[in-house]
Amino acid sequence: MVVTRFAPSPNGPLHLGHAFSAIVAHDLARARGGRFLLRIEDIDGARSRPELTDEFRADLEWLGLEWEEAPAQSTRTGAYESAAATLAASGLLYPCRCARAEIAAVATAKGPDGPVYPGTCRGATFAPEEAAAWRLDVAEAVRRTGPLTWLDERAGEQQARPELSGDVVLVRKDAETPASYHLAATLDDAADGVTLVTRGMDLFPATHIHRLLQALLGLPVPAWHHHPLLLDETGRKLAKRRGSPSLADRRRAGEDGRALADSLRAGRLPAGITLGEGLSAIS
Ligand SMILES: [Zn+2]
Repeated sequence: MVVTRFAPSPNGPLHLGHAFSAIVAHDLARARGGRFLLRIEDIDGARSRPELTDEFRADLEWLGLEWEEAPAQSTRTGAYESAAATLAASGLLYPCRCARAEIAAVATAKGPDGPVYPGTCRGATFAPEEAAAWRLDVAEAVRRTGPLTWLDERAGEQQARPELSGDVVLVRKDAETPASYHLAATLDDAADGVTLVTRGMDLFPATHIHRLLQALLGLPVPAWHHHPLLLDETGRKLAKRRGSPSLADRRRAGEDGRALADSLRAGRLPAGITLGEGLSAIS
């Protein structure tokens, strides 16, 4: 049984890029007689706007999608804490007190999410209360798991290369939530029984880290389907732009959501918007 999910964060309205991502996940599940889940990733305390989640549901309904609800991330902080404690107890996490600007100043490598943390605090001794974050010791983790592979349905088998991202943050101390995206999403997909993780190509590099976390935490390993991104006129990932209506705006204006969904499926995109790569949008 194939299980996919769409996992938006309620820190801004959904736009066409989200619609495309939800349709990909929905259609892949439907085509295989599987299940499609909606999971609200609402642990970004400061930016989270709970009132948006009902708007999201109205948007998906308007697009003609049907889904099952998975628990929102805010209900799962205990699981994140427990997994972080497991990793810490096996010596795989270390406290870091570097500010973002300090890291940018000393980093020599650039990774998928910006400057790669050079491991400044690895082995340093300071009071854990001073930690701004807890980081995964990726080299030590890889030494323990050995080489790992993962499967992207479109790109084929991949050698896991978690070192590309450096020692990523798994636990943030400056937020209300105890988990970073990497830890929370990996645990949630396992807890929700997701067998096919569908998301945009921008998250392709994050999958190397997620595969490593699955190995460290003994979680089931899904397959992935990284879909092309909708790009704006400047070639950047589509985001909420000035003058570009959100799905909620379009819905309230009386636009036909099902027709919009069918246009996206057929690759008929509004003027100025392109698909990020030549591979077919929805296999
Ligand atoms: Zn540090």
